Parts: sequence; C-alpha cells; structure tokens
Amino acid sequence: MATEDTLRDEARSWYEANWDPDLTVGEWFRRMMEDRWAYPGWPEQWWGRGLPTPLAKVVREERRRVGALGPPSGIGPSLLSHMLFAHGTDDQTRRYLWGMAVEGWVTCQMLSEPDAGSDLAGVRTRAVRDGDEWVVTGSKIWTSNADVVDFGMLLARTDWDVPKHAGLTFFLIRREQPGIEVRPLRQMTGDAKFNQVFFDEARVAADDVLGPVGGGWAVNRTFLAHEKNSFNPAAHEGGPFGRVPLDRPVHEVVEAERRRLSAGASGRGIGKTLSEQVVLFVQALRQLDLFKAPGVAETLDWAAALSELDAVALDPATVSDTLGVLLKYQDDIARLEGSKVKELLDEVKADLRAAE
Ligand SMILES: Cc1cc2nc3c(=O)[nH]c(=O)nc-3n(C[C@H](O)[C@H](O)[C@H](O)COP(=O)(O)OP(=O)(O)OC[C@H]3O[C@@H](n4cnc5c(N)ncnc54)[C@H](O)[C@@H]3O)c2cc1C
Repeated sequence: MATEDTLRDEARSWYEANWDPDLTVGEWFRRMMEDRWAYPGWPEQWWGRGLPTPLAKVVREERRRVGALGPPSGIGPSLLSHMLFAHGTDDQTRRYLWGMAVEGWVTCQMLSEPDAGSDLAGVRTRAVRDGDEWVVTGSKIWTSNADVVDFGMLLARTDWDVPKHAGLTFFLIRREQPGIEVRPLRQMTGDAKFNQVFFDEARVAADDVLGPVGGGWAVNRTFLAHEKNSFNPAAHEGGPFGRVPLDRPVHEVVEAERRRLSAGASGRGIGKTLSEQVVLFVQALRQLDLFKAPGVAETLDWAAALSELDAVALDPATVSDTLGVLLKYQDDIARLEGSKVKELLDEVKADLRAAE
C-alpha cells in the first residue's frame, strides 16, 4: 500500500504530465480511467487502486491542484459501482463501469411503486422471461431523473409463488425504448423533480440481470447500504453530475463547473436571482406542450439552448438567449404554470431593469 507521501507524489506527477485542457471531455475521462486515476477507490482489477477513502482524497486534492476536471459523479459511479463489485458478472462490471466513467452513461433508481414505498419488497412490477430477454410491465414512482437517464436500476417481481422477498430480481434496463413512458410529477412548488415511469412490455436483456434471478432482495440491500452514503460529497470524485457533453473541450466544462459552484456558493443579487429563475423556468418549460410540439425545438433551437444551459450553467449569453425565449412565450408559460411562474417572470424582468 502506498504511503500518503508517495501517493501524493505519484498523483501529482501524473496530473501535471497528463492534464491537457484542450482534450475533449471524453478523451480526458478515458485517459484518467485507463491510467487508474479516475476512481482510485475502486478495486485494482476495475481501473482503480483499491485506496481507502482518506488516500483517495489525496488523489482528488492533486487533481484539483492542477485544475483538472474530475470524472463523472452521481449515483452510477458512487452507488451502482459497489453493486457491480458485489453482484455483477465480469462482463456487466466492465460494460457499466466503462459506460458510466468514459461514455457518459447516466442512471436512476427504479425501486418505489405507488403501492410499494416503505414496503419495498412488495413491488408488483413484473418481469417475465422470454427467450434471451425479460418483459417488464408495471409502474415505478418518485423516479428522480428518469427523463434524462440512459438506463434504470430496476427491482421487479419474477416469481409470485414464493414469499415476497424471495420473488424479486434486479435489472439494469435501457430507458429509451418503446415500452417505457416517463411522465413528470408536478409538485406543489411547480417543479417536477420526480417522475412516474410506466412499463408496457419493456424489454431487458437476460445479460442485464444483476445478481441471481430471485436474488434481487440481496442486491437491493447492497444498494440501500450504499445509498445514504451517496449523498456524502466524499462519495463522489468531484466531477460533473448528470449528462456531460463528451465532445466539448474539457476546459469549457471546467469553467462551467467553476461558475456553477461559485454561483451556488456566493451568488447574490441579479446573478442569484437569474440562476434560480432560469433553472426553475427551464424545469417548467421542459413540461410544456409548447416545448414538445413538433417543429418548436427546431425553430427555436431549444434543445441546443437547454443543453447549453445545463452544460455551461450560467454563461451570460445563454442566459440572455434563454430569457429572450422565455419572455417571448411568457403568456403561454403563465397560462400553463399559473401565477407562480408569472410572478417569477416579473421578478426576473424587474431585476433586469434594475441592472440596466
Ligand atoms: C427526495 C426523494 C427522492 C426520491 N427518489 C427516488 C428515486 O429516484 N427512485 C425511487 O425508486 N424512489 C425514490 N424516492 C422514494 C423513497 O425512497 C421512498 O421509497 C418513498 O418515498 C416511500 O414510499 P411512500 O412515499 O409510498 O411512503 P409510504 O411507504 O406510504 O409511507 C408513508 C408514511 O408511512 C410510514 N410508514 C410506512 N410503513 C410503515 C409501517 N409499517 N409502520 C409505521 N410507519 C410506516 C412512513 O414512515 C411514512 O411516514 C424518493 C423519495 C424522496 C423523498
């Protein structure tokens, strides 16, 4: 095992020699992963160094010292990784770790159901074997981020004739497919941070069963054991959350992350108001029929504007473009979202006037 000093020297040399802000994000993620500096707490056989948390932190400090972007954060790298180490086949562990660390795959938790929340072992979403696949029918609820992910971590019932904990199986299911519909759940605040997901004969490959068929409860316990820790900042390597634009120069994303963190930490006045309002509006707009209507995304280049906004956080040009569109459609927004959105829009306009 490396001592703190030798590890620090080694990490510093590697980052100084390898950090290159002109690489694309994808190239940088790949370079860190291949040389085993992305997730140094992962086991050695899986692109890691098997370091305990205090030593993994030393590597993180050296990464920050050179100003390099961290690898993707989020529940995939911080939570699913542990489930793969405990229950995955070699093929699954290789595919999913690489996908999440290098190819930008993002995941969500598909556990809770309308009639199975605290009583999680009571899930009724069913999966039935059909050749090399399983066919999934049912519904999940409170599914954070289901609208943006590549695949979900799904607990489903595969056997109805055994005690309820024994009839469950854990799947990694591709989200984008005809049998899956994601509907946002609107909260009292007007936000829609959760979704309900409907499965109507959705398909999942037999290779994507995590752990044994009927052994889903044990897999789920690994999940729950690590879930609370996934809220701990130390469980993440410090890189971006959510979808990351892999083909952009990495220095742009470093700058966006810096702005996002400084806006969160010290944003005041117009900057803070704009950041909060824009994020709220964008969340609201994602739900509008107006935004979903054919042709609108193309003519307004909404998709680009929104992904820009996600990626660069609060680039002033993007904010002003976004606000321009928001103002143009304010009546539709006010009608669809009720007085809260109108009120927020008025605040933004007042702030803009005050800043002129
Ligand atoms: C911020 C947030 C994000 C979430 N994201 C996700 C997600 O991404 N994916 C996902 O699958 N789920 C998610 N959940 C769901 C969550 O993890 C729980 O499963 C769910 O909120 C609990 O189920 P329920 O809402 O049906 O409540 P219920 O199970 O109906 O519980 C309601 C109340 O009854 C109490 N209660 C229940 N059973 C008993 C009992 N036997 N004895 C005494 N009291 C009891 C509970 O403590 C609670 O106070 C999220 C929840 C929150 C708050």
